[in-house]
Amino acid sequence: MSYGFETLAIHAGQEPDERTGAVIPPIFQTSTYKQDAVGSPRLGYEYSRSGNPTRDSLQECLAALEGGSRGLTFASGLAAEDTLIRTVCKPGDHVIIPDDAYGGTFRLFAKVAERWGLTWSAARISDVDDVRAKITPNTKMIWVETPTNPLLGIADIAGLAAVSRDAHALLVVDNTFASPYLQQPLALGADVVVHSTTKYIGGHSDVVGGALVLNDLALADSLQFHQNAMGAVNGPFDAWLTLRGVKTLAVRMERHCDNAEKVAEFLARHSKVKQVIYPGLPEHPGHELATKQMRRYGGMISFRMGDPAAAERVCNTTKVFTLAESLGGIESLIEHPGKMTHASVAGSELEVPADLIRLSVGIETIDDLLADLATALG
Ligand SMILES: *Cc1c(COP(=O)(O)O)cnc(C)c1O
Repeated sequence: MSYGFETLAIHAGQEPDERTGAVIPPIFQTSTYKQDAVGSPRLGYEYSRSGNPTRDSLQECLAALEGGSRGLTFASGLAAEDTLIRTVCKPGDHVIIPDDAYGGTFRLFAKVAERWGLTWSAARISDVDDVRAKITPNTKMIWVETPTNPLLGIADIAGLAAVSRDAHALLVVDNTFASPYLQQPLALGADVVVHSTTKYIGGHSDVVGGALVLNDLALADSLQFHQNAMGAVNGPFDAWLTLRGVKTLAVRMERHCDNAEKVAEFLARHSKVKQVIYPGLPEHPGHELATKQMRRYGGMISFRMGDPAAAERVCNTTKVFTLAESLGGIESLIEHPGKMTHASVAGSELEVPADLIRLSVGIETIDDLLADLATALG
């Protein structure tokens, strides 16, 4: 039987506890497990780096939500990325990354993986031809974010899947901004989905984590080997908190989208705002594509003030929108990417405009959000 998304979020991997009937699966806060005899771990559990029932619940739930066969979770989004990169790539391999990649992803490739012999090129990921032009005989992965962070560019996942198949490269989609509720990259031809579960999946700004979801069982086995061998796993309590959050993903995303659409319209009409970047606006260059491959347009909005000082002033003035990095939680956040989340790309070809503001629109009362922005802009 195939269940709907909301049902899977609440039940996949989360059967009531067999022994006690506890409706919510317990937090298996243990590092090790009693074995029935030498070499006979019960249900295969022997040590919590290798396997933990609470982590398994989360892994199974995320796999179901992305429509994949296997899920693996990690201590952070970057730990998931690092495990994927070191499982798939070897020295001399080449990777294509978005020219406005998440700052931490860029840093991982440019400042860490490069030292171990990996090469990379940045491409305009919303332009399939530009990505194709950057392919070399050594290209192992095409790394995509859509919508991108912070410029909210939209990449054609199905189009890039065709390009990556021709190149015998893996198409990796960082689905953090959309969440599996709004977009399912595996169904569009992606090979691996990456998440920072810290963001919409956890959804409450109280836990850091990451995940990989895929269909290829051989690659999944290899990733599981590296998950254990490299050890960047999430703990049982973090896995449980993330499961606690993901149950409401669908209702949260609907409200994030409702509020973001209204904030985008408000900003687009405001005389002090130079440009609003939101895939839900018809003038956004990726609007049509986003309409095709996403259920709605998400909770992230970027806008430009035309003047860096004005942008910093707005960030320093809002009250309901909290000045903070990160995104995807129930509370609204505001930030200045150039000096905050994306400071690590300053001076590179990924540098972001200095007058740019990024909003993570939360699920508070919409009138309070609009009034807060009106005051800060006025
Ligand atoms: C936050 C984020 C990451 C990194 O995840 P962490 O959990 O912070 O390690 C990767 N990609 C995107 C798009 C992000 O927003």
